[in-house]
Amino acid sequence: MNQPIYSLVIPIYNEEENIIELYRRLIDVMEQLDGEAELILIDDGSRDRSLSMIRELYHQDSRVRYLSLARNFGHQIAVTAGLNFVQGKSVIVMDADLQDPPELLFQMIEKWQQGYQVVYAQRLSRRKESWLKRFTAYAFYRILKLLAHVDIPADTGDFCLMDRQVVDILNAMPERNRYIRGLRAWVGFRQTAVHFERDPRFAGTVKYTFGKSWALAVDGIVSFSKVPLRLATYMGMLSAGVAILMILLVLYWRLFEPSTPLIGFTLITLAMFFMGSVQLICIGILGEYIGRIYEEVKGRPIYTLKETGGFVNTNS
Ligand code: UDP
Ligand code: MG
Repeated sequence: MNQPIYSLVIPIYNEEENIIELYRRLIDVMEQLDGEAELILIDDGSRDRSLSMIRELYHQDSRVRYLSLARNFGHQIAVTAGLNFVQGKSVIVMDADLQDPPELLFQMIEKWQQGYQVVYAQRLSRRKESWLKRFTAYAFYRILKLLAHVDIPADTGDFCLMDRQVVDILNAMPERNRYIRGLRAWVGFRQTAVHFERDPRFAGTVKYTFGKSWALAVDGIVSFSKVPLRLATYMGMLSAGVAILMILLVLYWRLFEPSTPLIGFTLITLAMFFMGSVQLICIGILGEYIGRIYEEVKGRPIYTLKETGGFVNTNS
């Protein structure tokens, strides 16, 4: 196969019920494109039949290439691995569960051909997702926007098209904590959105557990904002202010109204608990940043590969 124009990067974690339909819909779209396309499937340490199904597709179709990570590294890392191996000039990242409609590719490619280097898909609505998921996602993107020092567009996931130039920059970034939608915004260049309605999952259950979603959210904020670090300073100033007021109040009572009984025990206990929790929260926030520094400093590889198919150079 010649060097493809388009590369489709799809992370897969236990998606055996979706792979056949995904492949069918993707091939349909790939055949209508104006250039050759490669399909890069990344098995993120699946424990079901996903990997053997991927292998089968690889043997049937020369446009399919695959990577298999040696364990479950998580969605963002799986996408990172895929990006390390793409060969196309235009790279599309999408989920395996068909929540990201492949047919949107045509609109994204049109924008790319108009000269945009990043085209991200922005959700108009989340039909059939629980109100809790919708609410938390809504709130998270607004908080992130408030705190982050780069403008990360709200309601966008990882579904996007990126020019080779942008992918090369992402690949050159050594960071281990990869919040791809943030890094993608950080890079700059000409970026634009296409809008879509997010379909429900084709089959299978959601692979982002509450814990994984929480970790991703914390990653997003900590990787792109230093505001939480300042929280300790602000809270310190606030409680110093309260303390000064209290000193003045006590002085006033002592000097001018000596008969007022001083409110002792309750106040001290409350103040103790309040200060204790403020300090613990601040230490926790510091911990988030220090933990990430530790991860980065160790300099371990971002992922390990157990198997690949269709690549000449498999050093990562
Ligand atoms: N995924 C992955 N590794 C994980 C979790 C998820 O590669 O540890 C993949 C999953 O197979 C899917 C995509 O990431 O293709 C998005 O996952 P999911 O649909 O569960 O999450 P959503 O974004 O829809 O909440
Ligand atoms: Mg999904």
